[in-house]
Amino acid sequence: MDGGGGDGGRSRELERLRAERDELDARIRLLESELEAGSAAPVSPGAGVGDGGCVGGGGACQARPGLADADSLPADMIYRYSRHLLLPDFGVEGQKKLSRSSILVVGAGGLGSPVALYLAACGVGVLGIVDGDDVELNNLHRQIIHQEAYIGRSKVKSAADTCRAINSSIKVVEHHHTLKPSNALEVVRKYDIVVDATDNLPTRYMISDCCVLLNKPLISGAALGLEGQLTVYHHNGSPCYRCLFPNPPPVAACQRCSDSGVLGVGSGSDWLPASPRGYKGCK
Ligand SMILES: [Zn+2]
Repeated sequence: MDGGGGDGGRSRELERLRAERDELDARIRLLESELEAGSAAPVSPGAGVGDGGCVGGGGACQARPGLADADSLPADMIYRYSRHLLLPDFGVEGQKKLSRSSILVVGAGGLGSPVALYLAACGVGVLGIVDGDDVELNNLHRQIIHQEAYIGRSKVKSAADTCRAINSSIKVVEHHHTLKPSNALEVVRKYDIVVDATDNLPTRYMISDCCVLLNKPLISGAALGLEGQLTVYHHNGSPCYRCLFPNPPPVAACQRCSDSGVLGVGSGSDWLPASPRGYKGCK
């Protein structure tokens, strides 16, 4: 087709102009959505950077009012999330909902790592992370939120620091403990959505029961070997974990990553279909 420099040059020029037009279209759509949501509020440098001590105190897990109460997104947020805002089904309203939402990720391991990273990057208002373990060398092939420098240190601290490094405008709350029957309701109560990334059967029942009692949607992931599973429970009338599996299987039937192995990239990719569902669950 390319009959010499002339045609080739014209093709390249055409390609360049088309790319330019697409970019202009994108900018036009962004400005339109911005106008629809009202004029952009001035950027307030202090509003936003916040992290939380854990637990106990009421209000530690409340959404950040600076962003949430604004009529529209601050200019820096519009730029940061511009690719979200361009999505017709998401837009400024979706981003604002996300910024008002709080999500609890239980487990900062192989399943929790990608979830927490994406939630931080996409701008969820409050991200809570629960884990009682420390980072170990053999975690790093799949628990991508942790770095070598954090080996021997708390997983929650490691995960929270990474999330804050990715997005300083969200609030990250550290829960340095295992979720147990004695503390689960107190922690879960503070969040809008719960992500069970523990891949631990008794904990899965406990978290599901908490979500039913407190009427929260639950997103649950599991990974073992080369396989993974993802389910959304107790959302818009869908069943809870106990509805689907009334009786726990015998302990001998339950394999664990530490015994049977798990593919590193598998524990991350299992979540990909969940992200849009998590967004949709935001109030
Ligand atoms: Zn149920």
